[in-house]
Amino acid sequence: MQTIVYYTTGILLLSVGVFIWLERKFPYTRGLPLFRDGFWVDLVWYTLIQSYFLKIFIFDYIILPVDKAGHLSSFHLVTSWPLPVQVLFFLVVHDFYIYWFHRWQHHSKVLWRTHEAHHSNKEIDWLAGTRSHSLEILINQTVEFAPIIFLGANPLVVPIKALLDAVWGMYIHSNIDVRSGKLQYFINGPEMHQWHHANYREVFYANFSTKFAIWDWLFGTAYLPGTKPVVFGLYYDYPKDYFLQHLFALKRINEKELAGKYRLFRAYHASRQKVLRGLRALTRPGFPGKDIEN
Ligand SMILES: [Zn+2]
Ligand SMILES: [Zn+2]
Repeated sequence: MQTIVYYTTGILLLSVGVFIWLERKFPYTRGLPLFRDGFWVDLVWYTLIQSYFLKIFIFDYIILPVDKAGHLSSFHLVTSWPLPVQVLFFLVVHDFYIYWFHRWQHHSKVLWRTHEAHHSNKEIDWLAGTRSHSLEILINQTVEFAPIIFLGANPLVVPIKALLDAVWGMYIHSNIDVRSGKLQYFINGPEMHQWHHANYREVFYANFSTKFAIWDWLFGTAYLPGTKPVVFGLYYDYPKDYFLQHLFALKRINEKELAGKYRLFRAYHASRQKVLRGLRALTRPGFPGKDIEN
């Protein structure tokens, strides 16, 4: 198992390099910097810290205790299937679920609160898709990985599926000018998912697919006009800080108001700005450092 983790980590890091290179070479939106607004929040908080703790919580505190209590995996319902068939089965079934749940999140005011974080980046690239409220990840990854364990799948399905999620997620959000032609009817890519992140009224209820675009075409939610959007993100203000982004789902708060009200928050806010200013000086020299927001 340790060996497969080395392999999947290696492939993941290699893919990051390839996507960054392709974004520079064939950009979907021109002039988008690597260290865009929100880059550090997405990388440090969402990609490294949040995903690490959620993985432990989902597996060790939800899935494995339920499995132990119900002896579910002992039925070995899919154990005899060949590994590629198991991977394909869980890939398609979960992708079908995620299409409908994602669609529901856009139609329900309550569920939208768990999904708006994912739409809050104003510049969409390989890393932007990692920004998802922890509640959204908790729901979706429990639904994704619980059946794999409960049905007694090969233990390798988990790391293989996690790798596919990560690489496919980077691909559909990447700022790469992909023209996949008829393939876009089946395999989802940036052509349709960049539009899903656009701040346009007509795409708020469109392009819900994640891996397989076929769901959008089958269920009448596909939007692929042949042009590109120019504005992305939410139509309303959204906090820049990880913790406030989480709080925002429960209560509509304003960063500036909070800073004016509470000394402790003011101190936290100021130190955060200082760190970001330092990072910006390192990564984007010459860029004005006054209006640090990410
Ligand atoms: Zn969405
Ligand atoms: Zn997305």
